[in-house]
Amino acid sequence: MRLKTKLSLGIGFLFVVILVFGTLSIISFMRLRNDSAHVLKNNHETLMYCNNILKALDETKTNPQAYAIIDSNITKQEANITEPGEKEATVLLRKSFEELRLHPDDSSNYPEVRQSLQVINLLNQQAIMRKSKAAEETAETATTWLTIIFSILALIAFTLAVNFPSVISRPIRALAEGITAIAQKNYQKRIHLEQHDEFGELANAFNSMAQKLDDYESSNLAKIKFEKSRIETIINQMKDGIIGFDEGNNVLFINAVAEGLLGIREKDIVGRYAADIAVKNDLMRTLLQDGQSKKELKIYADNKESYFSKDVFEVKNEAQVIGQVIVLRNITPFHELNEAKTNFIATVSHELKTPLSSIKMSARLLTDNRVGVLNNEQHELIQSITDDADRLLKITGELLNMSQVETGNIQLRMQPASVESMIEKAVQATLLQAQQKYISIKTSIAAGIPEINADVEKTSWVLINFLTNAIKYSPESAGILITAVQQNGVVEVTVKDQGRGIDEKYLSRIFDRYFKVPGTHERTGTGLGLAISKEFIEAQGGRIWVNSKLNEGSEFGFALKVAQG
Ligand code: ADP
Repeated sequence: MRLKTKLSLGIGFLFVVILVFGTLSIISFMRLRNDSAHVLKNNHETLMYCNNILKALDETKTNPQAYAIIDSNITKQEANITEPGEKEATVLLRKSFEELRLHPDDSSNYPEVRQSLQVINLLNQQAIMRKSKAAEETAETATTWLTIIFSILALIAFTLAVNFPSVISRPIRALAEGITAIAQKNYQKRIHLEQHDEFGELANAFNSMAQKLDDYESSNLAKIKFEKSRIETIINQMKDGIIGFDEGNNVLFINAVAEGLLGIREKDIVGRYAADIAVKNDLMRTLLQDGQSKKELKIYADNKESYFSKDVFEVKNEAQVIGQVIVLRNITPFHELNEAKTNFIATVSHELKTPLSSIKMSARLLTDNRVGVLNNEQHELIQSITDDADRLLKITGELLNMSQVETGNIQLRMQPASVESMIEKAVQATLLQAQQKYISIKTSIAAGIPEINADVEKTSWVLINFLTNAIKYSPESAGILITAVQQNGVVEVTVKDQGRGIDEKYLSRIFDRYFKVPGTHERTGTGLGLAISKEFIEAQGGRIWVNSKLNEGSEFGFALKVAQG
């Protein structure tokens, strides 16, 4: 039955109850009222007439109206005969009254009138008694019926009052429980209401919704599982080592390559706190300690010393970091190629040095008049050969230095060295180039500057490189200033020019190998000078820097420690 029908029936039933009960009560009251009205009308009035007649009878001698009163009352009584025997008594009354009216002095007529009145009185009193008893019985019957009907109706109403709320609240509770379960992602939840009403329909709708959610969840789960195994396959097929961590730095996954590098099986470390693993695992410790640093890692792998670069990627969910992935990229092949290149450059540069030196030597011999006198053009050609040979020698020198740096073979001869004399040497070495461009080189060396702890040859090489660049990138007639100051236990040497300067965006790469500022039209230069300078200075425990502004000039500088004692 539908809920609407149930509610209508419930309310309808209450309406019927009220109607039935009210109608019965009204009928009962009407019957009682009728009974008492009858008593009043039929009997009480007769008693009143009798009373009036008796009263008038006593006044016949004094009241001239007495006979008229008696007559009119008897007439009224004659019209109000209701009880059996009352008619005869009334006829008798009329007869004895007429006798009395004819013979008023005959006192024997009085008792007859009175007797008839008594009979009428008695008959009516008995009727009153009988009727009031009947009314009582009617009232009692009505009370009994009303009580029975009231009890039955009250019982039904009570049953309804007790049961009806649960008809509504039970399915609502079941639905509320179902919704809570769905909110907690329990999509298996179903509501079983064996009702064919609106609640039943609601439960069916809920169940089909839960079924759909369940299907969706399962298909999503299957999709996620498929994606997971796909990604796992890709990760495991990769040649790079990959380790994933959650936001609490616990290991989430590790691929086969990383397993080999760390020497740990995935099942032994997944879910464990990375720092705990690092206690016993050197590589894990290095990975965690270095953080985001991109330093190359030398790891023994594939039965040889291998090189890995480390990349750390943050895993983000919207803006929140929920973990990180470390990728160890095997760069051993590049390393091997680089090594081969360095060896090749070293060999070629070394091999070029001897023939270049002999070309220079031969060119110088040619200028000797004892070999023969040269005309001006021949002189210029030989000068050009010498210049080119110098340039080639410089390049081979740089390449050799670079290969030394790359193979980590920088041999340092540290000793207390005079900054002043190194500056002097560098100025001398570049004087000719400066003069060719009418460039003046000034020095400003702080008084009492101490000696520094340095490899004289390499530091001078750096200074010469600074100066050569300053001359190269300055316009004619410009000035160059070399300064040396002592500061916090170090001596800072700077070379400042008024050349074209360097765009700010290139400054961070200026010390990189083979880097040349784009648009530099100088034919010469390998882009190695500053890279070698950096390696030389840092190998000596010093610091190197550049300050430059485009079109305003550059300042290159280094700082080395003051010599002890
Ligand atoms: P190179 O042998 O090509 O000069 P360096 O390593 O010495 O190589 O310099 C790298 C690049 O830095 C140069 O190509 C040049 O563009 C720029 N550079 C170096 N010194 C200066 C300077 N004093 N003024 C402007 N640019 C400079």
